[in-house]
Amino acid sequence: MTTEDGKIQFASETCRLVEQLLNDYVDEEISPGHRELVDAHLLTCSACRVALEELRELLRTARSLNDEPLDREVRQRLRHALKERVGFEVPRSKRTMLKVVPVMKR
Ligand SMILES: [Zn+2]
Repeated sequence: MTTEDGKIQFASETCRLVEQLLNDYVDEEISPGHRELVDAHLLTCSACRVALEELRELLRTARSLNDEPLDREVRQRLRHALKERVGFEVPRSKRTMLKVVPVMKR
């Protein structure tokens, strides 16, 4: 399920969909129907389970940075970490970062 350099290969179109839902899933802002879809898929797909754990780890890290100002370097590191470790690109200034930023300021 991984390439030689350790990046995760998403195996199917379902993976692509689940990948897009994971952020809402960890934030528990996901609709019941989508949650069911993600839960069911996670039972069968280790790549997406790993992606979920990586995302949770990243959010834990973000929350631990409470009082740190979120400067450009931190944002870039988070995007880089997501891309390198989870294996998918985070759209610049889109959903994920918009969700991470308020978390970090709590
Ligand atoms: Zn999957």
